[in-house]
Amino acid sequence: MSRILIAEDESRISSFIDKGLSAAGFSTVIVESGTDALSHATSGRYDLIVLDIGLPGIDGYEVMRQVRAAGVTIPVIVLTARTSADDTLASLEGGANDYMPKPFRFDELLARVRLRLTDASTGVGSTLRVEGLELDLRTRRALVGDRQVELSAREFALAEELMRNPDRVLSREQLLSRVWGYDFDPGSNIVDVYVGYLRAKFGAEHIETVRGMGYRLR
Ligand code: CA
Repeated sequence: MSRILIAEDESRISSFIDKGLSAAGFSTVIVESGTDALSHATSGRYDLIVLDIGLPGIDGYEVMRQVRAAGVTIPVIVLTARTSADDTLASLEGGANDYMPKPFRFDELLARVRLRLTDASTGVGSTLRVEGLELDLRTRRALVGDRQVELSAREFALAEELMRNPDRVLSREQLLSRVWGYDFDPGSNIVDVYVGYLRAKFGAEHIETVRGMGYRLR
């Protein structure tokens, strides 16, 4: 049974996560301050951490920094403030493996928890490769052939979502919720705008528009 540390000071959120993870068969412990998060995270007793950024004591960024500095490599999924792209970027640069913008649906968190645990246990998943495209999830580097391209945090997250689902059509709504969270109007064209950015960097042929359905990487 995988053991998951939940570091979250809002009891409403921690108990929501705790109930769901317990029901899914995980063993969980909740801590409510950065100091407790740090001592638990470095104890070697956990397989994954769900880490809120806004924690009393020391904040989530500092917890993550110290956890990584201590050589702890277990996956960290950060809970970010819902509208802050800066939080997301800082989290990923600070060593988080993934992030969930608040508010989120539990099944989305569960999918990410399972994915990150699988990545960690198989040792794969740190690099995604599809048809001449390569994403290194640790260093956040993207390669097209052997040419490195610079991606913003959102572009990287969108590319990752597409590359995790090669040959599957992902709807705008799926991409919007997985990459941006729920803080955008479903009528927003932001997905199309970012697909355009990625096409410019990857080559237009890599991302196909499926009319009336969404986008597919090929
Ligand atoms: Ca908080």
